[in-house]
Amino acid sequence: MIEIAANNPTLKSWVVVPEDSDFPIQNLPFGIFERKRHKSAGVAIGEMVLDLADLQSHGFLDDTGLPDKVFEKETLNAFLALGRKTGRRVRNKISELLREGNAALKNHHNINSLLIPQQEVKMCMPVRVGDYTDFYSSEQHAYNVGCMFRDPDNALLPNWKHIPVGYHGRTSSVIASGVPIRRPKGQQRPDDNKPPVFGPCKLLDFELEMAFITCGENPLGESISTEKAEDYIFGMVLLNDWSARDIQKWEYVPLGPFLAKNFASSVSPWVVTMDALEPFRISGPQQNPKVLPYLEYGGKKHFDINLEAAIKPEGSEEKAVTNSNFKYMYWNMAQQLAHHTVNGCNIKTGDLYGSGTISGSEPGQFGSMLEISWKGTKPVPMPDGSERKFILDGDTVIMRGYAEKSGVRVGFGEVSTKVLPAL
Ligand code: MN
Repeated sequence: MIEIAANNPTLKSWVVVPEDSDFPIQNLPFGIFERKRHKSAGVAIGEMVLDLADLQSHGFLDDTGLPDKVFEKETLNAFLALGRKTGRRVRNKISELLREGNAALKNHHNINSLLIPQQEVKMCMPVRVGDYTDFYSSEQHAYNVGCMFRDPDNALLPNWKHIPVGYHGRTSSVIASGVPIRRPKGQQRPDDNKPPVFGPCKLLDFELEMAFITCGENPLGESISTEKAEDYIFGMVLLNDWSARDIQKWEYVPLGPFLAKNFASSVSPWVVTMDALEPFRISGPQQNPKVLPYLEYGGKKHFDINLEAAIKPEGSEEKAVTNSNFKYMYWNMAQQLAHHTVNGCNIKTGDLYGSGTISGSEPGQFGSMLEISWKGTKPVPMPDGSERKFILDGDTVIMRGYAEKSGVRVGFGEVSTKVLPAL
């Protein structure tokens, strides 16, 4: 594990941080916020956001080697392109400025415009996503789906333990938390003996996922090893990879996901850096059969991050429907990126890589309604007396995630999306 000054669990900030906050001084995630119709990069601390464009213009980041006005942008791409080492230097500097005992920023005459309540800003897409890939890397999820659609004895397809299976998604419909979605319409074939029908999706589902965002590029034709992969991963967000199960079932043969997946994918606004997640590394599952050499890796490359998904029916209180964990991944991010580039495919700054639905081994840990309601056979009771097999119009799906150790909680905030009726 690398020593990172900003991760010291004894650090405290002069900014008030509520005890259960996702954003203590040990986190310092980066995002893009909008205020008075103006976008800027910011860092979350407690219930506040620190305006990085202002911070830089006042000279507080002068010794970090940043280009001028790198935060006066509508996305974090220019900053991410500077790489992980620059990101670390900036995060360490911000940590110093926010530390108890350091009055330089605290007593600045413009502190009230530098440090703004999160309530007063709107959070936006943190990056301009160039390419979006979604993996399928949780064994329990792949097993559950295989049981439902094939049979328990052959739940995993023969390639699953040899290849981090994935597909290329669509970026135009990757949206920020808070942006509502319309129920998608499309072809379905509810009766295998009758022709397909067209209409609003009836089996709308969420997928509880995390995603990593890349920094830097590899030249086309060259691959990235598992050893070097983490140099290209800046940080992570929560991802709700919306899915239309009935459309999916009819369309996915033989080329895989298409319209069932590309109508919306929602991400949380704060990019939690891999540096902040460093203390939460854990060992992954033993991989058997042995993987091919290019997928072998050393060290702890999995992460212990608690995940939750909740449904809030219109006008009612929310109910948590699952509690999973990012540690239930079979393939880790380094393996995913090594596999993605092994054929020479190039990655770019700001690409988004979804984990795939993350399910634990117990029913209370499944990462989609497809699994939670077991294809609709086990409805979930809601606080307002209704029940859910899949997501209904007016429902808001909220995902949250946090890691916790040594009294420090590093959280992601939430990704929240309301479903509106089909047009
Ligand atoms: Mn997915």
